[in-house]
Formats: sequence, structure tokens, C-alpha cells
Amino acid sequence: MCGIVGYIGFREAYPIILKGLKRLEYRGYDSAGIALYDGENIKLSKTKGKVDDLERKIKSEISTKGSLGIGHTRWATHGVPNDINSHPHYSKSGDLVIIHNGIIENYESLKKELIQRGYSFTSDTDTEVLINLIEDIKKSENIKLGKAVQIALTQVVGAYAIAVFDKNKPNEIVVARLGSPLAIGVGDDEFFIASDASPFIEYTNNAIYLEDEEMAIVRRDKPIKIRKIKDDSLVNPYVQELQLNLEQIEKGGYDHFMLKEIHEQPHAIKDTYRGRLRVNEGIIKMAGVDDNIEKFLNAKRIIVVACGTSWHAGLVSEYIFENFARIPVEVEYASEFRYRNPIINENDVVIAISQSGETADTLAAIKLAKSRGAFVFGVCNVVGSTIARETDAGAYTHAGPEIGVASTKAFTTQITVLTLIALKLAKAKGTISNSDYHLTLGELELIPQKVETALGSDAHIKSIAHTYKDSKNCLYLGRGYNFPVALEGALKLKEISYIHAEGYPAAEMKHGPIALIDENMPIIVIATKKGHYDKIVSNIQEIKSRKGKIIGIVTEGDQTVKGLADHVIEVPDTLESLSPLLTTIPLQLLSYHIAVMLDKNVDQPRNLAKSVTVE
Ligand code: GLU
Repeated sequence: MCGIVGYIGFREAYPIILKGLKRLEYRGYDSAGIALYDGENIKLSKTKGKVDDLERKIKSEISTKGSLGIGHTRWATHGVPNDINSHPHYSKSGDLVIIHNGIIENYESLKKELIQRGYSFTSDTDTEVLINLIEDIKKSENIKLGKAVQIALTQVVGAYAIAVFDKNKPNEIVVARLGSPLAIGVGDDEFFIASDASPFIEYTNNAIYLEDEEMAIVRRDKPIKIRKIKDDSLVNPYVQELQLNLEQIEKGGYDHFMLKEIHEQPHAIKDTYRGRLRVNEGIIKMAGVDDNIEKFLNAKRIIVVACGTSWHAGLVSEYIFENFARIPVEVEYASEFRYRNPIINENDVVIAISQSGETADTLAAIKLAKSRGAFVFGVCNVVGSTIARETDAGAYTHAGPEIGVASTKAFTTQITVLTLIALKLAKAKGTISNSDYHLTLGELELIPQKVETALGSDAHIKSIAHTYKDSKNCLYLGRGYNFPVALEGALKLKEISYIHAEGYPAAEMKHGPIALIDENMPIIVIATKKGHYDKIVSNIQEIKSRKGKIIGIVTEGDQTVKGLADHVIEVPDTLESLSPLLTTIPLQLLSYHIAVMLDKNVDQPRNLAKSVTVE
């Protein structure tokens, strides 16, 4: 998984590519590189590390002149992150150069054949195999680059978004995709290539998103030609007008994207229900559900497939769907589901959740579910993403771009969408009373302002973070709707502070984790008033008698937990079913502040990448 950028036109390519790589660094950031055509030759510079490292290195290595170039920010899959394995990669002759996002699964057998044909390799990457395969085909069949790329890709198993150019034909860039995103920005007499539109948004609002198994030849002097890789048929380019603006993708005055995105949640939740939640009319409008209402109403079961934070949102939805719509729900890790020969049939509705809409395991789970006849519904944030296109129908979360690797607003907006669907189905099925239905709709509308109130505890949470920042372990406990929130809270802390944390259903504590509790163990307990309050108060007592340090997430005005806990963080009162949207907020802020105090890279934690487009 990585970010790719390319430019061909009348401007200097280098600054455009460099800035584009910085914007795409959230996709991968273990190495970076750029190749430019300077009018005579390819100039290439690459390095292990961040785009900033590349920027420091590049000017001492190469001239940055040229109006054609490609750049890459890598998240290694084949070969450790080092200078040699960084992209771009040359072909053996040095004529061709490639950037690649994805994995060539059959690279070993291809590599063996190429070695027999006299090729040698400098890197450990699958990508270098692909560029030499392209060169071998181009030379042996004496064909143009575009054709050679096309033939090579028919021999490849795996996933890719690639951009290739040839120093002997420096008026074109050949691009292709299968399973990894690729957008082409269309300007006047210039074209941009990127994994998403952020690198070119200040130059053009017009973009073409390549579909899977498509390739394009991008030339300054000719209209773009898009073809199907397999059958060579021409595809009419569909130029979309983009809504995204640059401000949305920059930090907006916050120190980190994550903090910005935490604070964007009131807005993001409102944007997500805007136009859908019509409290006065007592209706919920969602085209993807309305158009397929029979599928949902006849569903014998809902299977949610997702990974990471999205999986936690799925777990919350299990409580919501079962409680409101009385449909049995199973929540599956996409990575397990896809490999375990699951029992699925046409009476199942599969809901796939993914912020990026590119999560490889979720995509594979979708394909499997579809092949077995299930109706598949997507909940994604990125418009036009692969999952959004692969599913039978869907509903976007309108959270805006999420750049911080640790998901925040994606989680709360996913829960918002899933709540809307559940309420809509409950109403249609008659499994919710009129009064509960209207009450919940009204309460949902109030959530953004209550999230705003919850965000107001930031300074208090920061002081708690200071007390516990040096902890080695942490427990998160919750019950019912807030059990998945406990899991999500623990995940947030692990992801960005590297402190070991575990989430548990509070009642499970006595079946094991209670053995861990001593005076050094902070335990975050979600203990809001509605739900299993008395039970959770008993759990808190159990912790207290073992000297654990208790941080209670409580409803405003709570006295009981306040009397027992070492600290409490208040959130506004709401319905139990909506409480995850509020209790999540302090957990996000707590993790954020601890990570900042520990001087960790909050937006780009080690070993993680934003959208996991590889298995
Ligand atoms: N498989 C390629 C590599 O390991 C590309 C990985 C990526 O998408 O960054 O270099």
C-alpha cells in the first residue's frame, strides 16, 4: 500500500510530485522516491524514510528539472524498507521506470523465468519483476510500451496501481489498476496521476477514476485512451467533477490530523445524517436502503464484515440491529471470513464496512459473499472507492478525508450510518414502538452538539493523560453497547502510544483479566447511567478492592462512580443505544494526549498504514 503521483504537462513536475507525495504520505511512509525526465534522460532519487528525507536528499543527487515525472511513498510488502527497495524501479536497460502500489503475487515464478532469460535484479521487490517483465515483452515482441504493459498485466496475479514511462518515448505515462486506486486529474494540456485526488486538487477539479482491469495511456497531446486490459476494448473516459477542497485535507490549525479529525466529529456526524434524518417528518431517507428495502426486510440474517476500527463499529451495530430491527447479526473479521468457507445464502444481507473502501480483506469477503448470492451493502467513507463500487448498494459516511492513521471520525460516522439503517428497518418492520422511534430520531439529531460538549473535557482529559502516560498496560471495560467502545478505546491507545491495552466486556474481567489488576494498572470503565449501570458499579468495586486505578467515563452529574473512581470524565446524557457516539470521544482524546506526551508520531504510527490494501 502506498501513494503514487505522476505529472505530465507544461509545469515543472518536481514540486507537484513532491507536494503530492506529502499529501499521500498517510498511505505509506517507509520510503519515498521520484523519477523525472529532464529532456534527455531519467533522473531518479529515492530513499528509505519520509518524503522530507527525500526532499533533503534529492537536490544533492539529481537535477529536478523536467515536466514529466512519477513519485512514490512506500509501505513495504516485498523487501525491507531500504533505499534499494524504494520506488521508482528501473528496468534492466534503464529505459523504463515504474511506481507500483500493491502486490504481484506470482512474482517468484515470473522472476525465475526472467532470470533464465538473462535478467538480474537489484531489489527484493515484486515491482522490479513487473518492470522487467514489461521490458522483456516490449523488446521480444518489438511493441510499444502501452501494449507491453497490457500483455504483462495479463500474466500477473495480484493487485496493482502502476505508472510507467519510457525515456525513449517521453511524451506519455502508462497507468493501470487492479485492486489499488488510481485517479487521473485532467487539466488543460496537463495530466496528473495519483492514488487519490489530493495531490492535484489545486490544479484541477476534473478527475477520471480508473476501474479495475483498466489501463490508460496519458499523453499531453492526445485525449486519454482507456482500455480494458483483458479484452482490449476501449472505455469511454468518465470525467467527474470533484467536491473535495484542499482545506479539508490540510491540518486546519491543529497540531495533528488526528486531533483535527477528533474535533471534526460533530460536523462529520451531522454531514452523515444530513438529508437522511428528517426528524420533523419522522422519516429516514437512504437511497441505498430504500431501493433494496425488500432485501433488508426479508433478510434472515445480517453479516457484518470489516477490519480494525470498522469491525468495532460493526460490533456496535450488532446491538443496534438486534435491539431495534430484531434481525440476527454476525460480525466477522473480513480476513477470517474470506478463508473459512462460511455459510452464506441469498437470504443474507452482508454489510461491509471500510473507511477507505479499499481494505483488501473486506473486498475479498465481499467478492465471496456475492459469489454465494448474498446481497452486499457497503458502508465506506471514500466516494468512488473500490468497495463502494463492488457492493450491490451502499451508504457513504460523509466524514471527509481521514488522514490520521488511527481512525476517529470514521468510527462515529460509521455508527451513525448503521444506526440510521437499523432505525429505518425497525420502523418498516414494526419492531420499534412509535414513541421509541421518534425519541431516537430526535436524540440522534442532538448527538453532534453533545459530542461538542464531550470535546469540552479536553483539558481535564489531558491532565489524566499526564498521570498515566508512563503506564505499561491498560484495561478498558464496558458492557452492552459500550463493550465495543472499550475495544476501540484499547485499540486507539495501542495504535498511537504503543502501550499495551486490552478491551473486555466488564463482566468477563473476573474470568481472567482481574488477575492483572494491581496499583499500577489503570482501568478505564465506561459506566454511563443507562444500561447496566448497577452491574458496572459492582465491577468498579471489584477493581477498587484490588487497588486498580479507575478512570470512569460517566454521565454528567453522576455521583456514585465519582465516589469510587480515581478520576471521572463526564459525557452528556443520551439514549443507551446512542451512547457509543459520546463515550468514544474521551477515549480518543486520552489516547491522543498520551501519545503526544510520549512524543510518538500520532498521525503516522509505526508499522501501520491508513488503508490496508494488502492482505
Ligand atoms: N509490493 C511493492 C513493494 O513492496 C509495493 C508496495 C506498496 O504498495 O507500497 O515495494
